[in-house]
Amino acid sequence: MKTLLAAALLTCSALWAAEATEPAATPSILGFTAAHAEREQRIETAFQALPSPQQARAWHREFSARPHPAASPRNNELAGIIAAEWRRQGWEQVRLRRYEVLHSSPRSVSLEMTAPRHYQAGLREDAYDVDDASRDPDISSAYFGYSASGDVTAELVYAHSGNPEDYELLRKQGISVQGKIVIVRYSNPYSYRGFKALTAEREGAAALLIYSDPAEDGYTRGKVFPDGPWGPESHIQRGAITYDYIVPGDPTTPGWPSLPGARRVPLTEARSLPKLIAMPLSWRDAKPLLESMDGPEVVPEWRGALPITYRYTGAVTVHVHVDMDTRIKPYTVVEARITGSELPDEWVLVGNHRDAWAGGGVDPVSGTASMLELTRALGQQKRNGHRPRRTIVACSWDGEEYALTGSTEWGEQFADVLQRKLVAYLNVDESVAGAATTAGPEGLAFDSSAVASLSPMLVEASKSVRAPSGKSLYEAWRATAMRDHKTTTPPTDAELADPRIGSGSDHTVFLNHLGRAVINLGFTGDYGVYHSGYDDHYWMSHIGDPTFEYHTALTRMWGVTALRLANADILPFDYGANAAVLETFLLELEKNSHFDPQQLSLAALHQRVAEFAAAGQALRAATLATSAASAAASARHLQHLNAQLLQVESNWLDPAGIPGRPWFRHLLYSARYTYAHLEFPGLTEAVESSNWPLAADQAQRLEAALVKNTQLLRNALTDWQGGH
Ligand SMILES: [Zn+2]
Repeated sequence: MKTLLAAALLTCSALWAAEATEPAATPSILGFTAAHAEREQRIETAFQALPSPQQARAWHREFSARPHPAASPRNNELAGIIAAEWRRQGWEQVRLRRYEVLHSSPRSVSLEMTAPRHYQAGLREDAYDVDDASRDPDISSAYFGYSASGDVTAELVYAHSGNPEDYELLRKQGISVQGKIVIVRYSNPYSYRGFKALTAEREGAAALLIYSDPAEDGYTRGKVFPDGPWGPESHIQRGAITYDYIVPGDPTTPGWPSLPGARRVPLTEARSLPKLIAMPLSWRDAKPLLESMDGPEVVPEWRGALPITYRYTGAVTVHVHVDMDTRIKPYTVVEARITGSELPDEWVLVGNHRDAWAGGGVDPVSGTASMLELTRALGQQKRNGHRPRRTIVACSWDGEEYALTGSTEWGEQFADVLQRKLVAYLNVDESVAGAATTAGPEGLAFDSSAVASLSPMLVEASKSVRAPSGKSLYEAWRATAMRDHKTTTPPTDAELADPRIGSGSDHTVFLNHLGRAVINLGFTGDYGVYHSGYDDHYWMSHIGDPTFEYHTALTRMWGVTALRLANADILPFDYGANAAVLETFLLELEKNSHFDPQQLSLAALHQRVAEFAAAGQALRAATLATSAASAAASARHLQHLNAQLLQVESNWLDPAGIPGRPWFRHLLYSARYTYAHLEFPGLTEAVESSNWPLAADQAQRLEAALVKNTQLLRNALTDWQGGH
């Protein structure tokens, strides 16, 4: 699972000067002395020669061959296959971590229209002759993970996208959804299906149907499967509707690991469990329902792309039956490492989830294929005598699709260790979520996000990797950003990596709960078969990435980023760049329609951000930019400085958490209930609810963290200069 939200371009100034040229005779890499940069470049060149598109294709075929949802025998079998592979590749301490998790799978699900005529929904996807995998009987029927069970017959109401403003409009039309069955579209605008479920539950609906309108991911967008990347008439977007924006992971162990024997809250107290009956529908099953309505026509914005008259309500009664098997099942996280040669207690973590709703061609097997090429290449590098300085840990997560479960339980189990040792987590959910065959000459967009402090190093790394178009990934990144934002003005380096990080993938526990730096990497483009039976090897090998070159380009970028973090003399955190982004966030908050300068002043926060910026720039000038200085530094001084840099990230955590959802503890980053990114979450939510005393309190907490981090950066500078 990964939300597909358009990246917003930033308008902050570039605080670092970027060299756009290819690496020269004397390479310069953020965080490396001149001598070590040369060695790093040799290591990276050797590493980049190893990933093979043919091998990525083979991994992809094997891992996407059959459906493998969480807790299924096939997904558990794949855990063993990954563990065996990692051992063969030379990885160390390969372990299977088992969790006992509240799981949810369908016993029986059905839908029929009982008036004005009878229609029995098929709830199945058509098989296509060209694609053997589409005939697999293990491809499930339509269901949502963690739907409530029940049987209800009621009148049907169309509520557009199922967001709160849609119910407002219905109310203005005099239409109540109380006790009714509501049908909504997936997008327009996008919101996470678990937000649509909570909204319908709050509105008092009896059940919720979410269908894929062709306007969003079907024929309106282009050719449909198997001729193109978009969803055909019977495709079903499965998914979970967990309220994991309140607390992710096993709903019965909020904040602690689901180890065997763990304490559990009763189901009635599990805040992330929906109480609503819900199911997904293809547009083929939705159309008979929608076209049988005879009530008032909808406003134009609510019309979809089906050749029918869209109406709010009238005449249609449906019978929904959902029987879910909700009980404890084992989930498995596979873990392995290459122990660092010099700093084994500093970790760089790479990970990808394993479970898929069906074959998972894009989500997550594209990421899995890229990861297995990454681990194969890093294992080979170790055999060739290039063990990284820091430890690289790799994880294959389980149950991401349900509630980010495997990564959350693992992060909660090893919270103390991770808060001491983890330098950064590099997540890849979908490595290729787009069709190279329809992307045009510039190719797929490189769509990446990073905590603002790591954005400069990520942009720098992209200059050393080649994109399938033949350009550097950096040039391809700029070109596709201009194309997709329909501008002829090239983005600055500061605008490339998106510093707004929402939820919806496995980075969440590390950033939002543990205060560690995270990066998300992936290519995106046309893709309309998300979470359907057609998200498979045929889609990827004929439509998505027929040459598998995007898979290996992603492997190279992932590896170069990991190697730089693992081998750097000085960890390449840039707090001047971080501060520039924070200033942008503040200016945006002041433009928020709920912001009232009579009630709250952000003047002190602007001042604190400016002080943080100055301290960050001064430290960067004294360390990262002058590699000669770090050449002379002792190992002890470097380690002290790196510990201080990591502490800055930790200091963004507020132990009290965001008001109302304390599992989310990061003061800078969180996600809205829609999964959209949310900056200064506690402060912004207080402003948006006009709770001014709470807003003042949240502003103070942010200010305190900025003061603490400014002092820490100043101390780091003093300590650093005293060390020479
Ligand atoms: Zn995914």
